[in-house]
Amino acid sequence: MATATTTPQGTKGGSFLLESPRPEDVFTPADLNDDQKLIGQSAEEFVIKEVMPHIKNLEAKKPGLLPELVKKAGELGLLSGGIPEQYGGAGLDKVATTILTEKLSIYGGFAVTHGAHAGIGTLPIVYFGTEEQKKKYLPKLATGEWIGAYCLSEPQAGSDAQNSLTRAELTPDGQHYILNGQKMWITNGGFADIYIVFAKIGGEKLSAFIVERTFPGIKPGNEEHKMGIHGSSTTPVFLENCKVPKENLLHEVGRGHIVAFNILNAGRFTLGASAVGGSKYVLATAAKYTKERKAFGKAIGDFGLMREKLAEMAIQLFAVESMIYRSAGNMETAMASASHNGSDGNAGEKIQNTMKVLEEYAIESSIAKVYGSEMLDFVVDEAVQIFGGYGFHEDYPVCRAYRDSRINRIFEGTNEINRMLIIQMLMKRAMGGQLALIPAAMKLADEILAGPSFEETDDGVLAAEATVVANCKKIFLQSAGGAVQKFREKLADEQELVAALSNIVMEIYAMESSLLRAQKAADGKGQAAAQPMIDAARVFISDAAERVEHEAKRAIAALHEGDMLTTQMSVLKRFAKRAPVDTIALRRNVAAAVQSQDRYPFEGK
Ligand SMILES: Cc1cc2nc3c(=O)[nH]c(=O)nc-3n(C[C@H](O)[C@H](O)[C@H](O)COP(=O)(O)OP(=O)(O)OC[C@H]3O[C@@H](n4cnc5c(N)ncnc54)[C@H](O)[C@@H]3O)c2cc1C
Repeated sequence: MATATTTPQGTKGGSFLLESPRPEDVFTPADLNDDQKLIGQSAEEFVIKEVMPHIKNLEAKKPGLLPELVKKAGELGLLSGGIPEQYGGAGLDKVATTILTEKLSIYGGFAVTHGAHAGIGTLPIVYFGTEEQKKKYLPKLATGEWIGAYCLSEPQAGSDAQNSLTRAELTPDGQHYILNGQKMWITNGGFADIYIVFAKIGGEKLSAFIVERTFPGIKPGNEEHKMGIHGSSTTPVFLENCKVPKENLLHEVGRGHIVAFNILNAGRFTLGASAVGGSKYVLATAAKYTKERKAFGKAIGDFGLMREKLAEMAIQLFAVESMIYRSAGNMETAMASASHNGSDGNAGEKIQNTMKVLEEYAIESSIAKVYGSEMLDFVVDEAVQIFGGYGFHEDYPVCRAYRDSRINRIFEGTNEINRMLIIQMLMKRAMGGQLALIPAAMKLADEILAGPSFEETDDGVLAAEATVVANCKKIFLQSAGGAVQKFREKLADEQELVAALSNIVMEIYAMESSLLRAQKAADGKGQAAAQPMIDAARVFISDAAERVEHEAKRAIAALHEGDMLTTQMSVLKRFAKRAPVDTIALRRNVAAAVQSQDRYPFEGK
C-alpha cells in the first residue's frame, strides 16, 4: 500500500518564509558524517588525479577519452549514488549525493557529463521505470558500462518544452513506436548508449521512451561549437523512423511532462551543489594567485580591493553552501520520515517517496539552481579580474572556469523560467492551503494597522541579524500580498514583478540559512572560533537586506499609487529599519580567513 510522504513538522517546502527554525534544526556541512565525508573525498581525489591531468585533451575532445573517464568513475562507484542497491547502485542518501556532486564539480566539463549521466540520464528509469526496465538498464548505468543522456530540448522548443515536434506512432501490430524528429543540445549525445527521448504520441501526447543507441534510426549529429564546457559532449540527436519496442515506453502515455519536470527538479538541486564545488576550486586558485603575483612591490593580496574580492567570493559561496546543505538535510529527513511512516521499505515505495520529497522541495531546488549559478558566475568573474590579463588567457584555469560557468544560468530551466516557477509554486501551495501564506499575510495586515510594537530583542549571537531576516519575511508578505490582491490570477503575466518577488524569496532563504549555520557553529564551538563565519553571515545579511528592500520598493511602486503608495512605503521603511554594519571591516576579517588557508575557509564547518 502506498504511504503518504510527510515532511517533519516545520520543514515543508517553502515553509522557511513563515517559520523560524532553531539553529540545531538545520543541517550544515559540520554535520556531515564520516561516510559522507569519505564519499566527498573519493570524488574529489578522482577528479584531481584522474580527470584534471587530462583537461587539455578533454577540451580538445580527444576521441574516447571522456567516456573512458566516465567508466572509470563508474568502477569507483561514483555514478551510482541515485540508484537503489537492488539494481546495482549505492543507494546513497541525499546528503551523500550532494557532497558527491559538489566534489566532482571542480572541472565544469566533467561535472556536466556526470550530471547528464547519473542525474537526468539515469533518474527517469529509477523513478519511472518498470521493474523490467530497471533490471535491464540500471546495473549497466550504475557501473558506466552504458552512459545515459536526456533528450527533451528541440531546435524550436527549449523553455517551451511542451512545444515538442518529435512524434511517436504505434506500429499497426502494436509492438513498436516509430519516432521521428530532432533533439537539440544533448549532453553526452556523442557517446551515450541510452537516450531518454521525449516525443508526442499521435502528435499530442508527450511521452518518454528509453532509446538504445543500437536501435535503428537514432543518430547523434556533430559536436556543437560551444562557448564553454568544451570537455563535455553536446550534439543534436536525429530520429528517423527510429524503431523502439513498446516496452521501452517510460511511465505512461501522455505523462511525459511528469517525467520531464520531476527529473528537472532533481537536476536543479544538483546544479546548485555543483556550483558550490566549482566555486570553491576557483576561489582557492584565485587566493593562491594573490600571494604569487606582485605589483607595486607587494603581493596583490595585500591590496584592500583584492582582499575585498576574496572575501565576497567566500561570503556568497558560504550563503549558497548553507542553503544547499540545509535543503539536502531537510530532504533527507523527509525521506527517512516517510520510510518510517508505515513503509515496509521496498524499493518501489522508497522511490515514490523520494519523488514526492523532491516535489515538496521544488521551490528550494529552483532557488539552488538560480542562486547557485549566479553565485558561480560572480565568483569566476572576480577570479578573472584577480588574474588580470592572465585571467583572459586560455593557459590559466580561471579563463576556462569563466566560460564553463555561463551555461548554468541557461540549462535545467533558464533562470528566468525558474524565477517564475518559484512564485508560481508558492502561490499554488498558498491557494491549496498547503502553505499558510494567506493567514500570515492577514496577520501581518493586523500588525501593520496596530502600528509599531516595541518587542524585546534577544541579545544572543547574530540577534540583530535574526530580526532583519524576520522583517524581510514581513516585507515579502507585504509585497506578495499586494501583488496577489492587485493582479490575482493574472499575476503570472506581470513577469518583472514576479521576478522581484522571487528575488526576495531567494534572498530570505540565503540569509536565513547563513544565519542559522553561523549560530549553530557559535553554539557548537564558541563564538571566538566561529567569528569569521559570524562576520560572513553579518555581511551577507546586511547586503541581502539592501537587495530585499530594493526589490520590495520596485514591487510596491508597481502596485500602489497616491496615498496608498505613501502608506505602503512607510510600512516598508519600518520593516527595513536596521542598524548600519561596517561591512568593510568585516570583509577584511573574512579575507584574512581566506588568505590564512588559501581557500574557502568554512569547509566542513
Ligand atoms: C551546453 C548545453 C547543454 C544542454 N544539455 C541539454 C540536455 O542534455 N538535454 C536537453 O534536453 N536539453 C539540454 N540543453 C538545452 C537547454 O535546456 C535549453 O537551451 C534551455 O532550456 C533554454 O531553451 P532555449 O535554448 O530554447 O532558449 P529559449 O527557450 O528560446 O529562451 C530564450 C530566452 O527567452 C527566455 N524565455 C523563454 N520563455 C520565457 C518565458 N515564458 N518567460 C520569460 N522568459 C522566457 C529564456 O529565459 C531565455 O532567456 C542544453 C543546452 C546547452 C546550451
